[in-house]
Formats: sequence, C-alpha cells, structure tokens
Amino acid sequence: MAHDFDPGYGAEPFRSLCGNCPDTTTYPAKDFRVEWGPIFHRGRLDGSARVLVLGQDPAAHEAICRRILVGVAGHRTQGFLAKLGIDTSYVMINTFLYSVYGQQGGEAHNNDAAIAAYRNQWLSALLQTQKIDVVVALGSLADHAWKLFLKSPGAASYASLPYAGIPHPTYPESASKNNPTTLAKLTQEMLAKWNAALTSLKPAIKHPDSNRPLLAYGNAFVPADLVEIPAADLPAGCPDWMRGAEAWADRTGANPATKRRTITVTVPLDAMP
Ligand code: URA
Repeated sequence: MAHDFDPGYGAEPFRSLCGNCPDTTTYPAKDFRVEWGPIFHRGRLDGSARVLVLGQDPAAHEAICRRILVGVAGHRTQGFLAKLGIDTSYVMINTFLYSVYGQQGGEAHNNDAAIAAYRNQWLSALLQTQKIDVVVALGSLADHAWKLFLKSPGAASYASLPYAGIPHPTYPESASKNNPTTLAKLTQEMLAKWNAALTSLKPAIKHPDSNRPLLAYGNAFVPADLVEIPAADLPAGCPDWMRGAEAWADRTGANPATKRRTITVTVPLDAMP
C-alpha cells in the first residue's frame, strides 16, 4: 500500500510564511531554542481543516519530525479531537514557533508584538484558506494568543467562532513536579474541564470525519484516550513508530549546555525488526 505523508509547504500562502519566518531578532536565543529551528504546524493546509488548534511551543519529538504536537501532548490532543469525531480535518499551530527555553520564556514573550504579528499572519491564512468551524486553545498562553489575534485588524469577525480554551494537555505533569498524588488530582480536574469543553463544542462540529457518540473522559487517561498521529501529518519518510504514543525522544546531557544541544532518539523496542 502507498504511504501517506504531509506534502509540506509548497503552496501559497504557506510557502511565503515559512520562507519569511522570524529569526533570533524576534525570538531571543536566551528564551527560545532557536538552534533547533522553527516548527510550523501539523494537519491540513489543503482547505479541508474544520478545527483549528492553537498549542504552546514545540518540544523534543517535534524538533525531530518537524511537525508540532506529536509527543504526549499531541496524542492527548489527537484523542480530544477524536472524541469530537475529528480524525484528520484539523490544523494546528503553536503560540511560539520555537521551543521555549527556561521557566520564564513563554510568559515573558506573551505580548511581543513581532511574535504576535507573525502568528496572526498564520491564523489569518488558516482562517481564510480552511473551513474552520471551531477553535481550541491549549493552555493559557495559547488562549491569550487567540484573544490577541481577535483584537488585530480585520479579525474581530472571528470572535463569533465557537471557541474553547482548555488546560494544556501536559499541565498536570508540569504543575505536579513528580508528585503522583498531585498528578492524579490535576489530571482529574483537567479532564473534567476537557469534558465540559467537549460538550460545548460538539454541537458546532457540523462536518465530523466520523459520526461517533461523545465518550467522556474518566478521572484519568486510559490507553483509548491517546490516539496515534496520522501518517498524513508527518513529512515523507518518517518511520511509523514516530507516530506512536511511546516516547522516543528525550533531551539528554550532564549539564544544561549539553542538554540544550542534545536530543536522544531511541527506536521503541517493539518497532525493531
Ligand atoms: N508540543 C507542541 O508542539 N505544542 C505543545 O503545546 C506541546 C508540545
């Protein structure tokens, strides 16, 4: 069978958006991992996207396969969309084009005019070229980014789009600092908010890929809540295991400088021939 893959950024307006992306003058190297390059999007650019997802910033898995939201946050997001009946008709961009470095990175650049201006160009391009019915923001930085966009010239009319700002998919891990009891509690609270968002968004999904009943989350993620990244979302030649839920990339190194330069990729054992 032929392999599916993402055809990339050959068509306008995305070709020029990638060609003219901001560099370290806009994204300072002290706050962003600019050395790993910009990572633009994941999903449809061909006019078929119905749901627009705004994420936060790319991490290690994304740096390797050059598409956003493919690690654990991506699998959780894919599962959220699947519950709405959306399997492939979505497009995702992040609040930040480069991975945030350090604790304060994201918050400190929340209102940067040049970062917002470029992101708003992407949002306008997506809203003009796709048939977006619903917008979802993952986390408070993405929620803020969407609100900034709505205040930008010509964007006010998009305020009528059904919208949900939901907790970021890995907020429980970041906020619980390896405490399993806190992790369980924050996950349960997050999933209750995700369930409320699913209920409010579901009626606005007029063109689902699959007409399935809405199955709410329980108190914790179960394996069925994590959905594989479609082959059509990754560049040609990416091996199938890059789309699976098992973690395969990690920042490693004995000190911060080495760790910043190093991502260790390990093929999952069960993917070995
Ligand atoms: N990876 C992304 O690309 N975005 C997120 O928000 C989280 C992980």
